[in-house]
Amino acid sequence: MINIAIDGPSGAGKSTIGKMLAAKLGITYLDTGAMYRAVALYALRKGVAPTDEAAVVPLLDEIDISFSDGEDRKIFLNGEDVSSAIREHAISKAASDISKIPQVRLFLVKMQREIAAASDVVLDGRDITSYVLPDAEFKFFLTASVEERARRRFEELKQKGADIDYDTVLADIKDRDYNDSHRAFAPLTRTEDSVLIDSSDMTAEQVAEVIVGYVRERAKKDNQA
Ligand code: C5P
Repeated sequence: MINIAIDGPSGAGKSTIGKMLAAKLGITYLDTGAMYRAVALYALRKGVAPTDEAAVVPLLDEIDISFSDGEDRKIFLNGEDVSSAIREHAISKAASDISKIPQVRLFLVKMQREIAAASDVVLDGRDITSYVLPDAEFKFFLTASVEERARRRFEELKQKGADIDYDTVLADIKDRDYNDSHRAFAPLTRTEDSVLIDSSDMTAEQVAEVIVGYVRERAKKDNQA
């Protein structure tokens, strides 16, 4: 099995790269952030605050998450396509809050490990290299300056017609960076064996090519052995 694990902070370009890699290498892409977002969406729809651990945990029994095959990889929450709904700005903070709850993480990590064991997959998230798949064959930490990450997220939201300003997006990203790297259980960290890629001055295509380079290099070595 090929498992490519990519971690990094919000807005580093992980999902863009993940999709590109999946297409280039003919493997599956798993957006683990989308899973936390789906749980957050469910809680909000039930009127439960994502910070209310005691109220969130029982909801997990009511949640079924699945993905469509194919390139666009839609995400379904109890059979409903929530691919657009989970991208709303309010869901980002809610997902970051809900991801602090250990039972939420264990629930999703179990699914992530099952998917990774069953197929060649590129996964992106915050704890993939450190916790979900510490033995993954390929491990990368993708980052960019906080201003560049905010600029990219701002452009993305603007294109979708969101009514939001750059400073709000920047503050939100800083807040999520803090949340994601300071939580007690499986925080965002760069493991020593992850290759660091700073994409501040790189296009997504260039980043994808760097990663594909590592994968092809390894395949060449394996063939020679
Ligand atoms: O990657 P994305 O921004 O969609 O993730 C939403 C939130 O889910 C993140 O801010 C992070 O708090 C959480 N998350 C996580 N672990 C992952 C993926 C995402 O805690 N593996």
